[in-house]
Amino acid sequence: MKEMYFDAVVIGGGAAGMAAAQELDQAGFSCAIIEREEQLGGILTQCIHNGFGLIEFKEELTGPEFAERVEERLQGTTIRIFTATTVMEMETTADPKLLYCYSAQWGILRLSCRLVVLAMGCRERNRGNIRIPGDRPAGVYTAGLAQRLVNIEGYVPGKDIVIIGSGDIGLIMARRMSWVGCKVHAVVEILPYPSGLTRNIVQCLNDFDIPLYLSHLTTNIIGRDRVEGVEITPIENGALMHEKAFTIPCDTVLLSVGLVPENELSKVAGVELNPMTNGPQVDSMLMTNVPGVFACGNVLHVHDLVDYVVEESRRAGASAAQWLKGRRPQHEARLKVGANVRYVAPGRVDLQADNKIYLRSLIVKNDALLEVKVNSRVVKSQKKSHIQPSEMIELHLSPKDLEAAIGAPDPLVEIAIN
Ligand SMILES: Cc1cc2nc3c(=O)[nH]c(=O)nc-3n(C[C@H](O)[C@H](O)[C@H](O)COP(=O)(O)OP(=O)(O)OC[C@H]3O[C@@H](n4cnc5c(N)ncnc54)[C@H](O)[C@@H]3O)c2cc1C
Repeated sequence: MKEMYFDAVVIGGGAAGMAAAQELDQAGFSCAIIEREEQLGGILTQCIHNGFGLIEFKEELTGPEFAERVEERLQGTTIRIFTATTVMEMETTADPKLLYCYSAQWGILRLSCRLVVLAMGCRERNRGNIRIPGDRPAGVYTAGLAQRLVNIEGYVPGKDIVIIGSGDIGLIMARRMSWVGCKVHAVVEILPYPSGLTRNIVQCLNDFDIPLYLSHLTTNIIGRDRVEGVEITPIENGALMHEKAFTIPCDTVLLSVGLVPENELSKVAGVELNPMTNGPQVDSMLMTNVPGVFACGNVLHVHDLVDYVVEESRRAGASAAQWLKGRRPQHEARLKVGANVRYVAPGRVDLQADNKIYLRSLIVKNDALLEVKVNSRVVKSQKKSHIQPSEMIELHLSPKDLEAAIGAPDPLVEIAIN
């Protein structure tokens, strides 16, 4: 068994892992990235559409171009990159922490380190997760798998397509499948509003005349050997209108019904998860409940834009470096999810530093008011012209905003949308 030591090990070589590792290297710590695929870049490598990088690079890039730009920043660093290497198990309570990896080059590899950054991304929910009734014919794919087949393997999985769920991957695949000559008959969404970004509704559905059925449930996948159609039932006032159900003939169904942070490893390592995000609970330094284990990117919470992934992961890498230098958060307050907020990340704020918080709303609303309360008193409010669950909201809280919490026993900061 090959053994090596690093100050820090980053699990996952997507945008998040690369950005976090760069910060640790810059701070002078030895660092390794472990990536199970053969190249760095993560999910970006299969996203050949543009729309990436407007914030980070001030230009519109494709996914692979964005990944390349982030990877270029690693040139000249001493970061050790292990591709085709999977972290199988970790022991994080002892010092040093131990990671057991399987590597195509080395076989079993045991890494010891003082600190771990979790950056394993997320994976797609599948048919089993949403329990669509019907037969089990061939022709049902998750949208991300179909994207990989079309964009990387050069295989088009069908001709007549129905997409279930209006998440961003499904919307992007509606356009992609149209471009490769398929007929996309419909996108079907159970909610009364789309789950994906507005720009993707416009550019991927409206521009291609693809109908979007909101408030419609897929009640059956029809077909014995191969998909022959899907039965769709409208929902009105919360009730299924069975008498209005209809069938859309198709040979392929793509599912775009949500992403789940990939935290099997984290759970085994004793990392506590937030039930709303399925990602780790983290403090103001983006550290989990396990000392020296940090988390960032889609493994922490599912982001809409990679630019935010990189921003958050740089912060995680920088605070991980500070942790290695001995810094510990001194004055923190718990963040509480208030009315109409689905989640906030991180779960704590530092009362003596500038805090960046990402949150998602539970509602679609115009002229909304984002309100921050410290121990029930409003300390900050911000008008938002439009909010919707698919778009992450950014919030900055400075020491001045939070000064009412200083000295209070167990201070609580609540974020609500009205
Ligand atoms: C289809 C799709 C379209 C998108 N479109 C846009 C867009 O237009 N604009 C935009 O800004 N953003 C878009 N995004 C979002 C953005 O691409 C992602 O949020 C971002 O790239 C996620 O980065 P990450 O590093 O957190 O995760 P990932 O890119 O998923 O990277 C995680 C990495 O960890 C590795 N890994 C996991 N477990 C292990 C293990 N045990 N051992 C070793 N390695 C492991 C994985 O192989 C993977 O490479 C899109 C995302 C998808 C899926």
